[in-house]
Parts: sequence; structure tokens; C-alpha cells
Amino acid sequence: LNAPVWIQKFGGTSIAGPERIKGAALRIRERVRSGRRVVAVVSAMGDTTDRLLELAAQLSASPPRRELDVLLSAGEVQSMALLVIALEELGLPAVSLTGWQGGILTDNRFSEARIQRIEGGRIERELNGGRVVVVAGFQGVTDDEEITTLGRGGSDTSAVAIAAALGAECCEILTDVPGVTTTDPRLVPHAQLIEELSFDEMLEMAAAGAKVLHDRAVDLARRYQVPIIVASARENGPGTRIGPPTEKGDSMESVVVRGISQEPAVRKVSILQVPDRPGVAAHIFGCLGRHGVRIRLVVQAQSHAGHNDITFIIPDDEELPEKLLEEMVQGVGGNSFLVEDNVGLLSVIGEGIAREPAVAAAIFAALSEEGINIDLISSSNLVITCVVPQDALDRGTRALHRRLIESG
Ligand code: ASP
Ligand code: MG
Repeated sequence: LNAPVWIQKFGGTSIAGPERIKGAALRIRERVRSGRRVVAVVSAMGDTTDRLLELAAQLSASPPRRELDVLLSAGEVQSMALLVIALEELGLPAVSLTGWQGGILTDNRFSEARIQRIEGGRIERELNGGRVVVVAGFQGVTDDEEITTLGRGGSDTSAVAIAAALGAECCEILTDVPGVTTTDPRLVPHAQLIEELSFDEMLEMAAAGAKVLHDRAVDLARRYQVPIIVASARENGPGTRIGPPTEKGDSMESVVVRGISQEPAVRKVSILQVPDRPGVAAHIFGCLGRHGVRIRLVVQAQSHAGHNDITFIIPDDEELPEKLLEEMVQGVGGNSFLVEDNVGLLSVIGEGIAREPAVAAAIFAALSEEGINIDLISSSNLVITCVVPQDALDRGTRALHRRLIESG
């Protein structure tokens, strides 16, 4: 009978230099000794990827995209070989595999390729031969044998995809933070490590600005139900487990506020005084859809005298030309539009929170005590989001954390 497979992904800082690579090798040895067959997935060491990009930029303002992917793939190739050298030094048989050798097949979008399938035969053969397999993250190969990369931060996604393909017990992401915290610890010194999160909660935390994991990795983990543990590569902490709830977690039906997140980089757009009749929203969002504008949130309020305002929030790097806005206003017979940049989103996340009136009450009380004016509110089963002035975000985050987590 084969031992269960366990994936360990080491981020760039976790293997930045020989001492840390040795540390990673020891972490792998521990896992092997606990009776798992281990596949390690590595990123490029430290800031290697940035340095490679800079080198290319010094040669050309627009390097061929194919060659950029070949170049960037070298960062992870360097890491995987060094890690195997360290493992062998510990007496652990190991072998490194590029994305290509590991059967990571992608589409042909250079620098932003999507994984299509994993032909895991080679990885499994190596595991069955009793070796630790170290796979280069962030890279793959197309059916036409072109090397691709998955987009910045993509090695988390490689690790989860490999875990899904091999039916791994767990995908452990070893990084430079102890796990996912209740809010940004640089902002709130009392931020706490979250023990457990559902996939949906993690997706909301990521959407609301918690950048511990590549969001495509979380999506993939949810789709294939791969449990993830995010933990520090250097300390031996428990980390955060993302997946179906475990027995030692919360009582079965309890509603728990998991975290508070903020998102400063947004823009609020209102289409004012549009007639209150069917087809108006369809027209506006049809326009936005055709232009590929990502929308974070939509609010339409109670109508007055046959008119209402439709407001939506978009990331502030999203292109939304005035001409398009004017077209939308005219198309729906509206009055004008309004764009505001000095707003931000404050979100409280936790499965079921909108069903728990006490949570909403606590949120609004905390913000009002801080004198923070709430511009818009939106809620779902998982998250309550308030649009507030941008300069109130930090204060709001602290107030909500104090009220909902520190005293909860
Ligand atoms: N080395 C790549 C990057 O820096 C991929 C990764 O680290 O996940 O974006
Ligand atoms: Mg990285």
C-alpha cells in the first residue's frame, strides 16, 4: 500500500540562500519521517524573478514574450536543483523535475498561462521509487512544447494543481508569515492567527486584500477540495488550515467573524438619475461586460420619483474612459455620472455573518463610535462590506478588529 502524498510548497523567501534551503530540506525530512511521500514545489529564490525581468528590460523595452517565459522559468529551475542537492546531502533520495518533466500542461498564453491538465505519471514513478520529488513551480509547457509561466505568484497555483492531480492529503504552503491573520498585523498589532478557514472565507479574505495566497490557488483548492495549510517556513507553528471544517474547530453551527480586510485601491462610479424601469441595469452592466471591466460591488438604492442612482465599485487600475461613461448615461436616459477615487472598502468576513443580526449591529456601532460615515453597504452570506472614505480605512479596521475579534 502506498503512503499518502503530501505537497510542500516553499516560497521565494523560504529558500533565499543556502541556510534556508537546508532548513527547507529538514522540513521535508520531517514530513517523510511522518510517513508521507513528499512532493516539494519551489519558487525562485528571493527576488530572482524581479532581477531576471530587470535584466531583460535593460536589453529591450518589449522583449519577446516567449523568451521572457523561458528566462523566468530559470529561477525555479535553479531552486529545485539546489533543494535536491541539500536533500541528498541529508541522505534523502530526491530528484528535481521542471514543469515540463513533471507534466504540467498549460495553454499558450505566455506570462499568464492557465494549467490545463497534469500528466503526473513521471512524478508518481519517482515517488514510487522512494524519492522526494522537487518540482519547479510557476512553469509549465504547452502541447507544442513551449515553456510557459503562470503569472506572478503562480507557484502556489502549481502546488495546489499538483496536489489535486495526485490526490494529495494536503498542500502545505510554507512562507514568511505564520499563516493567515485576522487582519493586517502591520496595522493592528493584536492581529491573531486564524486556525481554520473555509475555502469561501479564504477567497473573500483574498478578494478583500489579504495577499497570503495566489487567488487562483484558492479557487483551484476549492474546486478540487484540496486542504491547504499556510504556515511559516522558519518557525514550527500550526499555521492556518483552509478546507472543510475539522472536528477540533468551532461548534457546528456557530457563526464566527474570521477577519477584517480593507481595500484602498478602488473607485466608485455612480450613474445618476436613471429612469426606474426594466433594462437599465442590463444596459449598464452589458456595456461594462463588453469592455471587460471587473466589478467588485453593485448598489442600487430605493427609487425616488421614478428615478434612481446605480453605483458600482471597480478596482482603481481598471480602464473606464469618460466616453464610455457618457455613452452609458445616454443609453439609459440618465442625468450624469460621478467618479470618486477617495473611497475604500472595509469588509468583515465569516461564513453566515449576514444571518447574525448582532454582527451587523456591532459593525455599525464600531464605525459610528469612530465617527466614520458609511457611504454604501453590501452584504452576502460571507461578507459585509462598507464603502467608507479612504482616510478612514485604518481607523475603521482597528475599530472593527477591537469590537468583533479582540473582544469577541
Ligand atoms: N517566482 C515567481 C514570482 O516571483 C512565482 C512565485 O514566486 O510564485 O512571481
Ligand atoms: Mg514569489
